[in-house]
Amino acid sequence: MRAVRLEEAYAYQAGTDGASGYLTIDLAALARNYEKLSSKVSPARAAAVVKADAYGLGAERVASRLYAHGCRHFFVAQFVEALRLRPTLAVDAQIFVLNGLQPGNETRCVREGFVPVINSLEQWHQWAAAAKGAGRRLPAVLQFDSGMSRLGLPPEERTELARLVRDENGVEVLFVMSHLASADDAKSSQNDNQLAEMLRITTEFPQLPACFANSGGIFLGKAYHGVLARPGIALYGGAPTAGRKNPMEPVVHLDVSVVQTRTVPAGTRVGYGAAHVTTEETRLATIAAGYADGLPRSLSDRGAVYCDGIRLPIVGRVSMDSITIDISALPQGRLKLGSLVEVLGPHQTLEDVARDAGTISYEILTGLGHRYERQYR
Ligand SMILES: *Cc1c(COP(=O)(O)O)cnc(C)c1O
Repeated sequence: MRAVRLEEAYAYQAGTDGASGYLTIDLAALARNYEKLSSKVSPARAAAVVKADAYGLGAERVASRLYAHGCRHFFVAQFVEALRLRPTLAVDAQIFVLNGLQPGNETRCVREGFVPVINSLEQWHQWAAAAKGAGRRLPAVLQFDSGMSRLGLPPEERTELARLVRDENGVEVLFVMSHLASADDAKSSQNDNQLAEMLRITTEFPQLPACFANSGGIFLGKAYHGVLARPGIALYGGAPTAGRKNPMEPVVHLDVSVVQTRTVPAGTRVGYGAAHVTTEETRLATIAAGYADGLPRSLSDRGAVYCDGIRLPIVGRVSMDSITIDISALPQGRLKLGSLVEVLGPHQTLEDVARDAGTISYEILTGLGHRYERQYR
């Protein structure tokens, strides 16, 4: 059933002419992923993490689609991302800024109605001062460091913070949050440690609900859900848990055009640095995407693309704008100028490409370039 649907998608893509590549973003699959995650955390709610342009997929398109499916909480990393997103969302959608306040942007945060994630006492005081200036209570989220040492209030500041939350009523704390460092590894004891720490935090702030789980955390069980989960990668089809069957639907498909084909004899050097030398007569194709389009140079002589389900290995180094592939396994004449090969699709997942490139799906997604023709379905 699904295969048929994907093939239809491919036929549709092939109808648009002339681009170097076609990046198809399946908004219906995105919505189904959101619904799956929502029902998994119910009665808690699922937010959407749309930082870094919704992991490269287009924050505006992604956020408005998820809004239509009931999502009302959107997390970005930076203030400038919140500014870009605000006009596309209705006023009942809340935008949370994970990095919190920067000196100088408090007034705009107030005016735009953003909810800063408070990561330090300094940010708390900044926001309390902004509330005083605005003459009204301002919403905020408190982020605690539960063992990742990246962002959030350290344990030794909790007593002081508890006093401030009690005594200063300019800031209205909506919930406490923390972030898991190893949630994609279901067996990691760091998850248990961070959960125990989070339970201590919620005991110290008993009136405040908790927001804890990222994509991986959602699959660690109910104890991690709090009132609001914060999935990112799973919405976009990435695997929430490493080494397990991915329960999410793929959202991104990428096809790249062939710009040249050739047949070379044994002993022919291919690409920069002659990093590859053919050992027999080989048919090659050059495709119109390279590291400038987010296909990392670490795929050189390691990764592959697909055509008709057949694996076509990358030979030699990945260039800025092109990659050479070995197409000897295909029938003669199957690929010609303008033909498309599959980089991400039914035969090759995001995780496959990430593994071959020695990185993670997040980096592949956020790196996908802007020279592809983007199609939203
Ligand atoms: C990026 C991020 C998320 C989303 O993480 P995924 O692993 O993509 O689900 C959630 N919370 C915080 C604080 C983040 O920085």
